[in-house]
Amino acid sequence: MKRRLFIQRLGALTTATATASAGTLFSALAQASSTIRPGPQDALIVIDLQNCFLPGGTLAVQKGDQTIEVINALAKKFENVVLTQDWHTSDHISFASQHPGKKPYETITLPYGEQVLWPMHCVQGTADAAIASAIDIPHAQVIVRKGYHSGVDSYSAFIEADGKTYTGLSGFLKERNIKNVYLCGLATDFCVAWSALDARKLGFNTSVIEDASRGIDLNGSLQKAWSQMQQAGVSRIQSKEII
Ligand SMILES: [Zn+2]
Repeated sequence: MKRRLFIQRLGALTTATATASAGTLFSALAQASSTIRPGPQDALIVIDLQNCFLPGGTLAVQKGDQTIEVINALAKKFENVVLTQDWHTSDHISFASQHPGKKPYETITLPYGEQVLWPMHCVQGTADAAIASAIDIPHAQVIVRKGYHSGVDSYSAFIEADGKTYTGLSGFLKERNIKNVYLCGLATDFCVAWSALDARKLGFNTSVIEDASRGIDLNGSLQKAWSQMQQAGVSRIQSKEII
């Protein structure tokens, strides 16, 4: 709630005429916001830090490995940490190889909407689908696997792409009385963004930690994702506000 109040004040300030005193107040407020101290009602959700999305993986996100150190440091600040894993069948509908004549990164229309076709990635039980070995979060409480129904993709950690099949994560968080979720991981413009948008829909105060995430940026998807998240009330924060 403090953060929300701060953002409202910041909004009022930025629309006001810039004056020296407003500038001073602005920097004081910015400093005051620099420390988020996660507690029992906060959870860090680390999205898809799997070999497949790291350099050398089947669907590598550029510089995805650069998130690992900061995510490990962030996780030490949270008592509640959730990890997610993209976890596909080998004949998954999101694989271009399942659609004759189609190539990776083309889109098709499925009964639940538009689907980007991807290279085969994160197949259940493979080393490619494993959580990166450099991820050091032994106290993580839950690993949510998603995308395991062969006919439906699931970028979101909460709700599959059909918009109605729940993974169970929101139930877990609500039963644990968690109100605030902080998301990071891969990729900013797909699984992180979709998870953040669903988190807002499900009533969580939601922040995405920008420098602990990396995007794919397919045809402007990164900018589009940030604007959708902003419109939905997702806070865009940096790891230094927590670490
Ligand atoms: Zn996938």
